[in-house]
Amino acid sequence: MARERLYLFDTTLRDGAQTNGVDFTLADKLAIARLLDDLGIDYIEAGYPGANPTDTNFFAEKRPLRGKLTAFGMTRRPGRSASNDPGLATLLAAEADAICFVAKSWDYHVRVALETTEEENLASIRDSVRTAKAKGREVLLDCEHFFDGYKAKPAFALACAKAAYDEGARWVVLCDTNGGTLPHEVEKIVAEVCAAIPGDHVGIHAHNDTEQAVANTFAAIRAGARQIQGTLNGLGERCGNANLVSIIPTLKLKPEFSEKFEIGISDEKLGGLAHLSHTLDEMLNRAPDRHAPYVGESAFATKAGIHASAIVKEPATYEHVAPERVGNRRKLLVSDQSGRSNVLAELERIGLAVDKDDPRLARLLDEVKEREAIGYAYEAADASFELLARRMLGKVPRYFEVEKFDVTVEQRLNAKGERVTVSMAVVKVKVGDEHLISAAEGNGPVNALDLALRKDLGKYQSYIAGLELTDYRVRILNGGTEAVTRVLIESTDRGKSGKGGGNGAGERWTTIGVSPNIIDASFQALMDSIVYRLVKSGAPA
Ligand SMILES: [Zn+2]
Repeated sequence: MARERLYLFDTTLRDGAQTNGVDFTLADKLAIARLLDDLGIDYIEAGYPGANPTDTNFFAEKRPLRGKLTAFGMTRRPGRSASNDPGLATLLAAEADAICFVAKSWDYHVRVALETTEEENLASIRDSVRTAKAKGREVLLDCEHFFDGYKAKPAFALACAKAAYDEGARWVVLCDTNGGTLPHEVEKIVAEVCAAIPGDHVGIHAHNDTEQAVANTFAAIRAGARQIQGTLNGLGERCGNANLVSIIPTLKLKPEFSEKFEIGISDEKLGGLAHLSHTLDEMLNRAPDRHAPYVGESAFATKAGIHASAIVKEPATYEHVAPERVGNRRKLLVSDQSGRSNVLAELERIGLAVDKDDPRLARLLDEVKEREAIGYAYEAADASFELLARRMLGKVPRYFEVEKFDVTVEQRLNAKGERVTVSMAVVKVKVGDEHLISAAEGNGPVNALDLALRKDLGKYQSYIAGLELTDYRVRILNGGTEAVTRVLIESTDRGKSGKGGGNGAGERWTTIGVSPNIIDASFQALMDSIVYRLVKSGAPA
């Protein structure tokens, strides 16, 4: 029997951006959109053009993606015509494949929040869908507060959904905006909606306020909905959105769903899910949830003891799915096959071909494991990993040596009697036979060190002329007896001038340093960033 297609709609970059403490830059958004696209997500909702400069810029140019890039916005305002609504005009001008409108579907909100009539709300939905369709966009309608609205006045909630469907909206998405609806209610209401609107035009958007967003999503699928909205790692305001990182493996690996449905995610991409989930956490400078289903470090960890020998003999006795399917690993086994294949895949990606039996590979694996045990996280620091691998394979020249550095932080009163803090760094570098000394002041010790380090690298200076640090993230890790500091530095090459300029300009890379001392950790990451740039620009040894 042919399986039915389920469509995945990711709103990490829109609803997920509402998460407390999450603030995506344009570069973050582009990087995450590429991750989602590579995974095989059908719709990537990237933001609300016109609502803030980042989102407006995101949609200002075409972003070549396989998935459908979706812009979010409001239906036309009550009392305005569609052609005379600036918000709608901005949305229609966005470089997007699809437009997802949000509209009220709860009579109470229409009266109190929108201060308009039910008829005008329906007319606004119809006009907006029609206008966007005429512009050649695929159209979705998010029915805000649908479930609460349906409970209060089913005929009106359904009329809102039906108005969009009748005007040709590809999807009508039922939103549990407050997140308080329970699975049996979702199943019942979605089934009733699907009697009026074909399920292959119905989507579900669940929030996690009773920790049932994932369960509500599956309830909706059972009742007929065929589009699933959610976010990576369940990001989202309050308690988050439905977590696609939990939903995807269930759809792929549980026969109840995998036999009936297919999604756009291949088995191979499923195998990279744990990595993807951790990559996003690292980008957000958050510690991955160890207990996250499927992808958490503890998801397939079993305490040694009576289970240990059984699980080694027959893993299926203690595991509901094979951890490798989602790129996770069993915590008991000593031989680290998944680590090995990850490293091999990564080496291939950066173009370092190594035979899988090469003894240097085992050494590299040991090194990575040792370093990760003390706090390094190479999933987030691609450039540092590449340098580590290249060094193991003997392919990184010793371009220069930092013989010593000295950083001071001074707090004093200035001439006006104000308390000021001044940081200053002096770096002594040996390049070939040359000894160079540079000093710089900065707004903090790391900034001063960075400036001094990159001030004069002799014959290599032109290769790093365009190098800029674009992000600096610090996390205190509590492991063992003392806290260590992990620093992640993101750099880019603006390609302003110099020999490296034309080569790899615009590239971004991330490096890492770990030490009990924050200056030392930062220094390691800074050094890696510079050396990586030299390697990439083909600087001579
Ligand atoms: Zn939402």
